[in-house]
Amino acid sequence: MSESPIAIDWDEVTAEATELLCQYIRIDTTNPPGAEEAGALFLRDALAREGIESELYDAGDSRVSLSARLPATGAVGAKPLVLLSHIDVVPAEPEHWQVPPFSGAVIDDVIWGRGTLDMKGMGIMELMVMALAKRHELPLERDLLFVAVADEEEGGIRGVHYLREHAPHLFDAEYVFNEGAYGYREFMGREAKIVGFGPSEKSPCWVRLISRGDPGHASVPHGRNALARLVRALARLDAKEHEIGLTRPVEGMLRTLMQQGFVDDGFDPSDTETLAMLASADGHLHAVTHDTVSITGLHSGQKLNVIPASAEATIDCRLLPTSDPRAFVEELRAVIDDPEIELDVVYQHNSGESSMDTPAAAVVEAVVRERLGEDAFVMPMLSPGFTDSHAYRAAGAEAYGFTPWLLTREELSTIHGHNERVSIANLRLGTEILFEVVRRLACRG
Ligand SMILES: [Zn+2]
Repeated sequence: MSESPIAIDWDEVTAEATELLCQYIRIDTTNPPGAEEAGALFLRDALAREGIESELYDAGDSRVSLSARLPATGAVGAKPLVLLSHIDVVPAEPEHWQVPPFSGAVIDDVIWGRGTLDMKGMGIMELMVMALAKRHELPLERDLLFVAVADEEEGGIRGVHYLREHAPHLFDAEYVFNEGAYGYREFMGREAKIVGFGPSEKSPCWVRLISRGDPGHASVPHGRNALARLVRALARLDAKEHEIGLTRPVEGMLRTLMQQGFVDDGFDPSDTETLAMLASADGHLHAVTHDTVSITGLHSGQKLNVIPASAEATIDCRLLPTSDPRAFVEELRAVIDDPEIELDVVYQHNSGESSMDTPAAAVVEAVVRERLGEDAFVMPMLSPGFTDSHAYRAAGAEAYGFTPWLLTREELSTIHGHNERVSIANLRLGTEILFEVVRRLACRG
């Protein structure tokens, strides 16, 4: 990167990052049960070799998170910048993989394994940024913080939520870079160089529905069948059409795609009729423009010839950042229209929204174009899934999804799927971009 005043041997850094990622993948941190301690100790040792000390936070049962800080040199000019990642990964089904999912194998310059994309690869890039900042004695005007947490994949109770309670100092930050937006090598059937940038995410609202009735012999139906009642309620929920909502990140995404010629420039994103038509043909666009309800579980009945006295269902609702969760649950109640069905919100948080009008967003835009060329661009995105960034937004930080890799559709489909992998070229690209972004945001002058 021409503008950086620091000479870095990127071949060497890439070889180091590759080796570290392969080792990190081989530590099985499947959640559940997570058992992130081994992963946290691995990160601690790698940081220690650079002369960077870590702190460990033990939430019990090997659920360990870690932080490491490079303090500002001289006078502090700004609040910290946090490089956030999670140590745990989702389960893998080895029988569907071409190589064992925890092998960390390198085949034709591609690193294979559960967590390469989500998100041990990003964790290693962040670790390399810390190492490079230390080795080159960057003149930091703010602290650089590396935070690797347990339990992201199961909601973060033993991870980011535990840290908020037990290590609140880690949340005093201006900027956070985390998972939440990748980049695309191809988009809408065309070659592309698009780096996603995620200022917000949809908010989860997980609800349990409980129906109670009377038991009885199935040979004599009595009209107070708890399961039948619940099924009717679920059918009403499933049939409900939610209103379309245009949030700032999605409007930003659509306008960027228009400017870049991916969407007809006669299109007006605020024209909800056209937007609804487009969304009806594209599951992802539908998800990021609507509150959604997915029925995910139904439990009832012991015996074929017994009317069950109770029934339970779970629904996974995802709300736009502009939706009010309380009003949403009231709306669910109205749709169900059955006072006998109890609604129990088992988990909910507001993902919040960070500003796209910050120095961080401007630096990302500049560095991406310098590194990838004028035909590359940064695209605001709203992630349909949630990440740990919400905890930082709630604490007042500007938190962004930002993993600057250019992935194919096929590679993206391996996230939480089979044969997850990342190319060494992407690992290098991401480390170069992330380092330069952090350098410009954290250094004097
Ligand atoms: Zn993740």
